[in-house]
Amino acid sequence: MNYSLKSMIILVSLFIFACYQKPVDTQTAEYGIVIHGGAGWITEGKLSKEEENSYKAKMEEALRRGSQILSEGGSSLDAVAETIMMLEDSPLFNAGKGAVFASSGENELDASIMEGKNLNAGAVAGVKHIKNPIILARAVMEKSPHVLLAQEGAEAFAVEQGFELVDNKYFFTQGRWDDLQNAKKSEQSGNDQSSLINEKEFKFGTVGCAALDKDGNLAAGTSTGGMTNKKFGRIGDSPIIGAGTYADNATCAISATGHGEYFIRNVVTHDISALMEYKGMSLNEAAELVVNKKLKEQGGNGGVISIYKFGNVVMKFNTPGMFRGFMLENNEPQIKMYKN
Ligand code: ASP
Repeated sequence: MNYSLKSMIILVSLFIFACYQKPVDTQTAEYGIVIHGGAGWITEGKLSKEEENSYKAKMEEALRRGSQILSEGGSSLDAVAETIMMLEDSPLFNAGKGAVFASSGENELDASIMEGKNLNAGAVAGVKHIKNPIILARAVMEKSPHVLLAQEGAEAFAVEQGFELVDNKYFFTQGRWDDLQNAKKSEQSGNDQSSLINEKEFKFGTVGCAALDKDGNLAAGTSTGGMTNKKFGRIGDSPIIGAGTYADNATCAISATGHGEYFIRNVVTHDISALMEYKGMSLNEAAELVVNKKLKEQGGNGGVISIYKFGNVVMKFNTPGMFRGFMLENNEPQIKMYKN
């Protein structure tokens, strides 16, 4: 074979090889933040303009706060904790003040937080007297050798750490109380709790946040009151690392919302990260597969928000709507509720 034919073959092979390579990832944003305020039957016309505006305003305030921390060089962990705390303090969402009621008539709160740089994580489940469960979850991560503390034990740890306990009544809102009464009526008329969540009225209201900071570190967190009329110390996916929350600098940071039992069984947030890590999928492909195929086929309603190590944001849900928004660097926040 002569020299020029040889070089031609090499060039053509190199060209074919290059065509089959995945495009190289490029940084889309140096830092960014994404949140959700629950998924469900959130459709146009269900909320009044006033209600819509108050959800949007609170989500915008939270995004701006988180983003300010990131723009000043703060950590993704600080941004996630602060942003979630702000949403917990708002009665609009099913987390902290305004959480849903358990069957007992009390509020039982779950939260978790995770750092992508070292896979450190902390979580609390079934706490009844902690104003901001996300801050306690962070304390579990940073001040204890454990990952998940539950119920009275978690509260004893909180007291040891100097947290003030609040009366369970602090979490009360009339709307959530009425939801519990309706759930009980529906149960008495023969509907179980799983049929309740398929009702076209239902919306989850859990809050979650994922962020990327200027140092390239990812973090994610989730906080919730769980599901209305839950019984027997039921704990959902939100405080379960790998189900409701996951962060790994090598892949992405994710928070989920939806019917927790499905999210636990499918280890949703870790599954998305693992598809990226082991199968080389993009965040978008991985989230689409898990949320819109695996979960959907099983009837697992809900969604996820996530941010990739290069600053891309993905928000996927298989319900008619999801309260969601993101802010990349100092661009204007983008906030949505409905499908498009
Ligand atoms: N995932 C939560 C749970 O099952 C509920 C929600 O997302 O609103 O406890």
